[in-house]
Order: sequence, then structure tokens, then C-alpha cells
Amino acid sequence: MNKRVSSPKTMQDVIRRHQFTLKKSLGQNFLIDENILNNIASAADIEEESYVLEIGPGAGALTQVLASRAKKVLAVEIDHRLEVVLKDTLHHFENVSVRFGDVLKLDLHQLISEEFPPDVAVTVVANLPYYVTTPILMKLLTDVLPINTIVVMIQKEVASRLQAVPGEKSYGSLSIAVQYIAEAKIVMTVPKTVFVPQPNVDSAVIRLDVRPEKKVQVADEAFFFKLVRASFAQRRKTLMNNLINNLYDKDQKEYLLTVLEKVGIDPSRRGETLSIEEFARLSDALGSK
Ligand code: SAM
Repeated sequence: MNKRVSSPKTMQDVIRRHQFTLKKSLGQNFLIDENILNNIASAADIEEESYVLEIGPGAGALTQVLASRAKKVLAVEIDHRLEVVLKDTLHHFENVSVRFGDVLKLDLHQLISEEFPPDVAVTVVANLPYYVTTPILMKLLTDVLPINTIVVMIQKEVASRLQAVPGEKSYGSLSIAVQYIAEAKIVMTVPKTVFVPQPNVDSAVIRLDVRPEKKVQVADEAFFFKLVRASFAQRRKTLMNNLINNLYDKDQKEYLLTVLEKVGIDPSRRGETLSIEEFARLSDALGSK
């Protein structure tokens, strides 16, 4: 089929023709708004030299837009039932390769090297399945892949966490992990009505630009993340209580007080008030554990 599957009517026709039933458990909320699809591709600056990794092509609505602008699109889909649908909707694009599997389990290094020329910078574009948004983002950001930009649709509430700063309700370990590696920006918010079926929550498109250098330098990255997670474990507790309950023992309180004093952080503050720079200072002063 040569038609775009970006209108409610064309999407319905495709779904009906292939007797496809959408699975809620796989986060299958398909986009049916041409403008939004175009805006996503534009927000990612997709042009004729772009190499794009799409996660979850679904029936191919976004894939069609990306393929009409990019050099090549590699789409990774978990649901094998969509193979016939994608063969139908993408058959006139020669620059799309669809691979089936769980993006969280696949070796993306290998996939990228098999599908794209060496040394290209990859742009990730997706309408992400909401049940696995955070693990997918964390995998893309921490697997040291040749990715420079990520433009994805996610739940509005998660989007606000990515940009959050100390003191805000949505500030947490995800905010720190993302801001450590990338610069986050909300491109637009999107109403539920442009999906079939409609999800329960509103969405937002975000853009992450991977920083050439991490936002802060830390001696032990793994310990830095451990410290951040422990500090946010119980949001209402003080930093000191969270560290004792989740990372250290009660008898190490004196040691913790000395280190906190040395780096100028009041032990009665809550983790949610600490900036990424303060976490980095504390992490280096405590050393690894
Ligand atoms: N891109 C399409 C669109 O915008 O209409 C579909 C987006 S839909 C929100 C999410 C897609 O991700 C579905 O096709 C779903 O089957 C797929 N998916 C869910 N979990 C996945 C996983 N772990 N790995 C790869 N794809 C996944």
C-alpha cells in the first residue's frame, strides 16, 4: 500500500485488513495525526543524510515519515504479528530495515554496526511504549552507543522529570541520570486524542542531545548513581537517614557527618534539594562502596 497510515481512516483500514488486535500490554497506542508525526521528524532534524533508529514502529505511521526524509531507518519491533502489517505499509521504501525483538534485550551495538555504515551518528526517534519508557531511555543513554540525539514521545509526567531541577516535585534519580549524560528539552505536549486507542495520560515529545562531555566529572560513575538512588529512596527522609538506611550502617554516622561537613552539605537536607554538582562532590568525597 502506498498510502500513509497517519489518519484514523487509513489506520483503521490497515488494522482491519490484517485483522490486527492492538495489545495494551505492549503499549500499542498508535499515532493517527499527520501533523504530529511530521513535527516529531522535524524536531529530530531528520534530513537526507540521517541514520535513524526507531523503537516500536507499530503499523509504520512514524516509520513512513522518517523513511521519506532519512537516508536509512532501522526499526526494532517486539511484536512479530506486525511483520505482515509493516511489509504492507513500508513495501515501497527501500531504505527501511525492520528487525524483530525486545529492544531491551537486543545488542544495539551489533545491530547498528550491521545496518549502518561505520562512524555515523545515529538519531533515535520513537513513540515509545509507555510501560518501558524509563528502561529504554536508560539503555539508550548508558550503553555508550553512537547516538547523538534522541527525540521520543513519552508520558507528560515522565517528561517533566527529565528536565526537573532541585526542589521540584518531579526531581529524582531519573532527572540526574538524564541530565548527567544529555541536555533535555520538552518539544511539545500532545493530547490523548491523537492516539488509537487513547492512552490514559497526556504525552510529550522530548529531545535529548547527548553532551560531548558529562555534565559533571566523577571518579566512580557506578557509585555516583548508587549514591543518587539511595538519597532519593525515601523522599521524605533526610539525606543522612537515607544514606544510613540504604547505603551505609548506623555505626558509620560519624564518618558520614565528617564527609558531609567537608563538602559543605547540611546532613539534615533532603536528597531532593541537592544539585547534580553537589552529588558529584559528595560521591568523590565518600569514594566508592
Ligand atoms: N510507532 C508507532 C506509532 O507511533 O504509531 C507505534 C508506537 S506504540 C506507542 C509502541 C510500539 O512499541 C508498539 O508497536 C509495540 O509493539 C512496540 N514495543 C513495545 N515494547 C517493545 C520493546 N520492548 N521492544 C521493541 N518494541 C516494543
